[in-house]
Amino acid sequence: MAERYDLAIIGAGAAGLAAAQYGARANLKTLVIEEMAHGGQALLIDTLENYPGIVEPISGYDLAERMRAQAENFGAQFLAASVHAVKKAEGYFVLETSEGAVESLTVVVATGAQHRHLEIPGEDAFIGKGVSYCATCDGPFFKGRKMLVVGGGDAACDEAMYLSKLTSQIVMIHRRDRFRAQKALAARVLANPSIEVRFNTVAREIRGDSKVRSVVLENLQTHEIYEEPFDAVFVFIGSNPRIDFLKDTGIALDEAGYIITDCTMQSSIPGLFAVGDVRATPFRQIVTAAADGAIAAHAASMYIDELKGQAYH
Ligand code: NAP
Repeated sequence: MAERYDLAIIGAGAAGLAAAQYGARANLKTLVIEEMAHGGQALLIDTLENYPGIVEPISGYDLAERMRAQAENFGAQFLAASVHAVKKAEGYFVLETSEGAVESLTVVVATGAQHRHLEIPGEDAFIGKGVSYCATCDGPFFKGRKMLVVGGGDAACDEAMYLSKLTSQIVMIHRRDRFRAQKALAARVLANPSIEVRFNTVAREIRGDSKVRSVVLENLQTHEIYEEPFDAVFVFIGSNPRIDFLKDTGIALDEAGYIITDCTMQSSIPGLFAVGDVRATPFRQIVTAAADGAIAAHAASMYIDELKGQAYH
């Protein structure tokens, strides 16, 4: 019989690693499955300065290394593999992976979400050098500078409002003639004197040398193409949660495709939890992801106690 784990965690970003640490420390037989490097989105962060208690900024890579070491010290095991499907059996789950089947009493999905990219020349080359997908993470590095915000949804409007506390020079472009965002939020952006909104406008190219210097913009109505100086480009055009391997499970998702959980991080499938960016949540940060992971591991432990008839009532 295959070795059965108590807790199988899919994804080794901050949420998954925190779940691993809490799970292993609670004596759960814990396995973390990751197809790429551990660290997730945190690996993109060069200078992490807003994680509580980290006074001297460290890199996202260093934090991920520490989180992995901590989980390993408590006994968590790691498997480099891709998960293709999750199936519920009688009282446990079977994960089909590129390295074979894994059985576990509970599953924590911590696969994150991928920011959509504009897919224009210069975008990938300037990530971390002026191109960003997170205002809270990178906005403070461009205090008082000229920023371009791309997008028309709630995230773009929220983040533009946040950035307007850091600079009075924001140009916000959206490809349509009005915002997709909720009316109240859109109205706040339009009334903000630090944000110049240009509708029917798209970015065609990001230019610079060692960092972003300018962006080529196009007015879709007049077809005018012009180059304008910018120090930073913040892209908020939605993101795609990584949940392909759950497509046959019937798990409840919100309108944007994120996994809906209760306050213990349990999804609509008992014993299957979701944490971090893949979860329907209003704020996506390393600290919130880590907290999700801790809560899910604790809830998984209680679920297993119930399963084994060992719950303390
Ligand atoms: P979203 O609602 O999907 O909006 C994405 C925006 O980016 C849309 O305006 C879209 O334009 C535009 N866009 C997409 N691809 C583009 C491209 N290639 N080039 C230029 N523009 C492009 O995504 P989101 O704003 O990240 O929000 C995701 C979910 O989280 C939503 O359900 C949202 O309500 C929720 N959320 C809520 C809050 C809040 O309540 N405060 C804050 C953040 C997020 P079109 O309009 O033309 O499609």
